[in-house]
Amino acid sequence: MATKKNSSNATETPGIDDNEEKFLKDPQWVEKALKKATAIELNKYEEELANLLIELAFKNSKSNPSLLGHSLAAAFDLFVAAEFYKKITSKGWLYCPSSSPLLIYPFTNTCTRCILNGEFHFHKANKPGSGTIGGITRKLLGVFLARLFQRSGRSLTVLRGAEPIDLVVWDNENDIVLMAEAKAAPLTTLALAVPCEIQTALNDDGEVINLSHGPLDNSSLEKSEFHLLIPQPEGEKWSSELVSLGLRPSKQTDLWSYSQMARVFSQDEQMFGRYFEFWQRAFAAYSRGEWIRGAAPDPVYWLTNACGQPVPRPAYWPTRNSGEGFESVSDGKSSMGMDRTDDIKKGIYQVLKLGASRGLPRRKMSQPYYNK
Ligand SMILES: [Zn+2]
Repeated sequence: MATKKNSSNATETPGIDDNEEKFLKDPQWVEKALKKATAIELNKYEEELANLLIELAFKNSKSNPSLLGHSLAAAFDLFVAAEFYKKITSKGWLYCPSSSPLLIYPFTNTCTRCILNGEFHFHKANKPGSGTIGGITRKLLGVFLARLFQRSGRSLTVLRGAEPIDLVVWDNENDIVLMAEAKAAPLTTLALAVPCEIQTALNDDGEVINLSHGPLDNSSLEKSEFHLLIPQPEGEKWSSELVSLGLRPSKQTDLWSYSQMARVFSQDEQMFGRYFEFWQRAFAAYSRGEWIRGAAPDPVYWLTNACGQPVPRPAYWPTRNSGEGFESVSDGKSSMGMDRTDDIKKGIYQVLKLGASRGLPRRKMSQPYYNK
């Protein structure tokens, strides 16, 4: 069930708690919530990518002993990535000089390519803020669920709820309404990479030297050939596969990432399986706690959200700009799904609050209730 949004939001709308209380005390609150819910709008590119990824997830689970839910979760992460890639800017790129030089656009605070060899190179990630991620994932989860229900032949309508409800799933055959708080942050987001020239500078003695890792603006976004950087296991080690998404047109940049992701994953159907190998290893590393007590984790752990501070921490790893201690590779606020104890506590609280303030309606509801 839904909860109050982040604190900045709460500051802007100081009466939200009171409104929520009033809303829940209304005997007609379920009907009213349904009336206020609206259809989730999606364009044909979002629809095409969602359908393709869901199909690939089902196929993958047939050729793979892992749970279908894992394939779907991995597919959902790609769907969220397409949305993140809409916001690429000239800033936020990391120059990586290893072997063939790359400009990398990472989503955790370290060089995505070098961490696969266990090397940490701090660089601020390009992840949207937790408030923005919440809005993005709420919509995309709604879209993804709607496509999934349709594929499974389930007669369930997914709607965008009005505050304090994120999503409404309505089983109109059986008169069952599910009101949900969406917690759908991805486990991991594939970095983008653009091949570039070796970068140089003058040292104190006036000699030309090759630059090491560091921030570097991408001043020619329209001429950049973007690639997905997909980590690939190679025996005990990791390498990276670069998959070209092509050039980004100057117009309709919002559609580009969706159409290109759909293109590359439909042209090479084995690619989802290769991506899933990485995702599954990252998920296993994320789920495991033993490494904290002993050896360093699987390197792909450092590409997962909320992975924390580097272990072992290199001597050159920076301290935080504000507050004490060291920078993290990814902080705890961005835990995947509802993996924050804070979210679990909120959920329990909301269920108790609803149960205490208002029981569920007994009578059948007429339709249609929501705004199409
Ligand atoms: Zn690097």
